[in-house]
Amino acid sequence: MSGPERANCDVAVIGAGMAGMATALFAAAQGLSCIQIGNAGSILFASGLLDLLGVHPVAEARRWRSPFQAVAALARDQPEHPLARVDQSAIRHAFEIFVAALGSAGMPYAPLGELNRDVLTSIGTIKGSYGVPLTMVAGADALAARTPCLLIDFRGLREFSAAQIVAAQADSWPGLRHARIEFPNSENSPELYGAHLAGALESADTRERTIGVVKQLLGAAQAVGFPAVLGLARAPQVHAAFEAALGVPVFEIPTIPTSVPGLRLLAALERAVSASGVERRQRSRVRGIDYDAAGKTATLALDDLAGGESVVARSVVLATGRFTGRGLSADRRGVRESILDLPVSQPDSRDAWHQRDFLDPAGHPINRAGLMVDDTWHPLDATARAAWPGLFAVGSILAHQDWMRSKCGSGLAIATAWAAIEQVTRQLRGAGAGQR
Ligand SMILES: Cc1cc2nc3c(=O)[nH]c(=O)nc-3n(C[C@H](O)[C@H](O)[C@H](O)COP(=O)(O)OP(=O)(O)OC[C@H]3O[C@@H](n4cnc5c(N)ncnc54)[C@H](O)[C@@H]3O)c2cc1C
Repeated sequence: MSGPERANCDVAVIGAGMAGMATALFAAAQGLSCIQIGNAGSILFASGLLDLLGVHPVAEARRWRSPFQAVAALARDQPEHPLARVDQSAIRHAFEIFVAALGSAGMPYAPLGELNRDVLTSIGTIKGSYGVPLTMVAGADALAARTPCLLIDFRGLREFSAAQIVAAQADSWPGLRHARIEFPNSENSPELYGAHLAGALESADTRERTIGVVKQLLGAAQAVGFPAVLGLARAPQVHAAFEAALGVPVFEIPTIPTSVPGLRLLAALERAVSASGVERRQRSRVRGIDYDAAGKTATLALDDLAGGESVVARSVVLATGRFTGRGLSADRRGVRESILDLPVSQPDSRDAWHQRDFLDPAGHPINRAGLMVDDTWHPLDATARAAWPGLFAVGSILAHQDWMRSKCGSGLAIATAWAAIEQVTRQLRGAGAGQR
């Protein structure tokens, strides 16, 4: 009887959230052979916007037009923040490559510049984001110019209310109107779901009937906003068809999670990563890691496969996220790293996890818990040294950051993935990396 299967690679990426996807793409771009392990479910919750850094300091909720000036301020104020430890030119380059890969995989973004674009959120607030899908960018332009604009929603679609957005913006955007319409063939459905509408709008007939209704409501509107349901895999074509038929810029506004742009982002990243030659094990989890006696390779034990499989890698990147990703877990004694039990930077006691005021604008210490890394992105062991020279950590599992409050989720993932893969490549170069 044969034993468990073994697969070899230069770099094994554990995790398939934003950080794992970015790491896998960057590893392939460097010519490294790469196996990625993990389920990408968390990306479904993303809005499609790629935030670099929107808020700093979080306690003051200060918003920035330039994410790069924000990163510079972060580096002055919180040099231990992982995003502050990545060179700005590397951040730019990493975003360009990431966004180009998404474009090639069918999810195009507006050209990246120096500034965040302000966009409307599903609840009518305004958020600055760096990477904006092309289907959303006309909304940023309309918002900036306060163009007379019509927002459409569909009766029965609970995850989006155009009326709520208009009410929130009424004082500063008098030319913003809304209208609620019936979605074709759904007159008898009490509740509608974004993904179903997005799929249905890929049919020319459904699209034309929707456009016919909206045309009659246009009035003086010079732009039209919709919930982000304009197509799934063919979203760029569906969006273009709406613009051509309505004769004005059309834009999408993200709905609450799980959103259609999250579905598109997941599909585009899966296509991009697979097309780059990365082998994916999306049904597996890593149970444990052993290093060989000479310290040259790590063997990852995977679960979920009959007979078991192991992956032998010359370097390993941990992109396993925090509590929702299950890279960290917590019990009465504290917070633990889930695979290797690496030391986690965390408050001294459970009592110190949260501020007294749950709504404290400074956020909670528990949200800054995570792995400590050295200058080359190696997680530290209990002696404050690199746990293993071939082990790296990226993304939200890193300590000293609160990506949700800083609005830097994708920025943290993409920038640290790039920086770590630069180190992996440097380490493996000359030792036959990518020449299996
Ligand atoms: C509700 C919501 C809204 C968001 N909105 C935005 C937004 O507007 N803009 C933006 O930029 N970003 C947004 N994000 C995304 C955010 O950028 C990322 O989720 C965040 O950066 C964390 O990414 P991560 O890859 O570090 O971790 P996660 O996304 O948590 O991914 C961790 C991965 O590791 C895997 N994993 C863990 N343990 C193992 C194991 N033992 N073996 C194998 N795999 C394992 C998990 O399955 C998962 O794939 C949003 C996220 C959420 C949840």
